[in-house]
Amino acid sequence: MKFLASPEIWFVCGSQHLYGPGPLKQVAANAQAVAAGLAKSKKLPLKVVYKSLLTTPDEITNLMIAANSDAKCGGLILWMHTFSPSKMWIRGLNILNKPFLHLHTQFNRDLPWGTIDMDFMNLNQAAHGDREAGFIHTRMRLGRKVVVGHWSDPEVHARIAAWQRAVRAWHDWQGARFVRFGDNMRQVAVTEGDKVSAEMKLGFAVNTHGVGDLVAKVSDIGIDSQAVNQLCAEYEELYTVAKPLRKGGKRHEELRYSARLELGIGAFLEEGDYKGFTDTFEDLHGLRQLPGMATQRLMGAGYGFGGEGDWKTSALVRAMKVMGAGLPGGTSFMEDYTYHLSPKGHQVLGAHMLEICPSIARGKASVEVHPLGIGGKEDPVRMVFDAPAGQALNASLVDLGNRFRLIINEVKAVNPPKLPKLPVARAVWECKPDFKTACAAWIHAGGAHHTGYSYAVTTEMLEDFATMAGLETVVIDATTTLPTLKQNLRNNEVYYHLSGGFRA
Ligand code: MN
Repeated sequence: MKFLASPEIWFVCGSQHLYGPGPLKQVAANAQAVAAGLAKSKKLPLKVVYKSLLTTPDEITNLMIAANSDAKCGGLILWMHTFSPSKMWIRGLNILNKPFLHLHTQFNRDLPWGTIDMDFMNLNQAAHGDREAGFIHTRMRLGRKVVVGHWSDPEVHARIAAWQRAVRAWHDWQGARFVRFGDNMRQVAVTEGDKVSAEMKLGFAVNTHGVGDLVAKVSDIGIDSQAVNQLCAEYEELYTVAKPLRKGGKRHEELRYSARLELGIGAFLEEGDYKGFTDTFEDLHGLRQLPGMATQRLMGAGYGFGGEGDWKTSALVRAMKVMGAGLPGGTSFMEDYTYHLSPKGHQVLGAHMLEICPSIARGKASVEVHPLGIGGKEDPVRMVFDAPAGQALNASLVDLGNRFRLIINEVKAVNPPKLPKLPVARAVWECKPDFKTACAAWIHAGGAHHTGYSYAVTTEMLEDFATMAGLETVVIDATTTLPTLKQNLRNNEVYYHLSGGFRA
């Protein structure tokens, strides 16, 4: 995957000097064993590194300064093996700008009931030491994840793994660059937003290039170049390419143009260190067609994408791809396109004009060329496929003027029926808790028609991510009821109005 970094997670243990040097040595050894145990877990995508045992305000502050300034540090796991009076942590936590997870665990899994004495009790104090830590985190209004259970527990590893995936995506967004070719689709509201606010709060920059800059890049790719030959051969190897598009076919030249689009956009992104892009069918001057397969293939390589200038969804798709890296199931740009409103069960047909990522293809995609119907350009080449059945979710990031809101809907994808006349990639799903509740909830929450759609990313990862990013989260799942959801939205208006202050 393009530009995928693997930051480290620092494991930090808190204690104090009350117990003397002997117990502190034991505490440090135990903390190292816990960190090593986590580092060995195959579930955790990021490396856990034991950093230090902290016992004084200066040690804590210096560690936080080091974490902030080390580009390799993605986040911290904090654990209070013994009591660590938490006023010692105020100065350090005040300046920490990396996400942290509070692991509420204990070195010993089982209590030795027959031999337990006060020495044992004093050495294994997380039960109250972590509560003292939790108080100061709450007192300071710090967003964090709290994971509870023995450090060998697979369920604990799963919770930490979800958080690490969110850390990786958050790390990826910091300093990330997204490019927009042209502006938004005219008059569309939900794809607008405050890019200054996004950069202040979310860490990524969005800037535009006239489509002419891209046209120049595409023109640099020679029509008969070896790169185009190779890519077309690759298409024929990987996909079922329609006969007229194949080498020697009467529309092969159109496949070659699609390859030039892929190489041209790819080169533009590579040279600009961009992690994602947007385009719009309303601004294609100098391009013969809206990029279809080119965009699909670049999303497949890990780039974020949003149609019609939708930079928020492009950034979100990229973040979701990073979260899901290495897991089964892909992630794509998606749009709620049309509904099946049968009394036997309501379903959503998700698709886009062209740009659905092949990471969610079930089986071999076919490569076809058809008219687009809007935009008045030449027929775009596109990959056509079905997305598989399975648990999935849609997520949408919207700008409410004083904050960004992340809306998540868990869905059950089903195998699409035969769609012989639909020339685009598609997914069919059923919403949780049910179609009517989910759609009403989504609309009340202001969720967009564009989403990041994923089989790999979970609600837990997105909620952890939202905590790091300070995003409001609205989850629509099997437990959602409309009255509660609407009340939560009203409550959130007050909370975010007060907490955002004037820096929105
Ligand atoms: Mn769209």
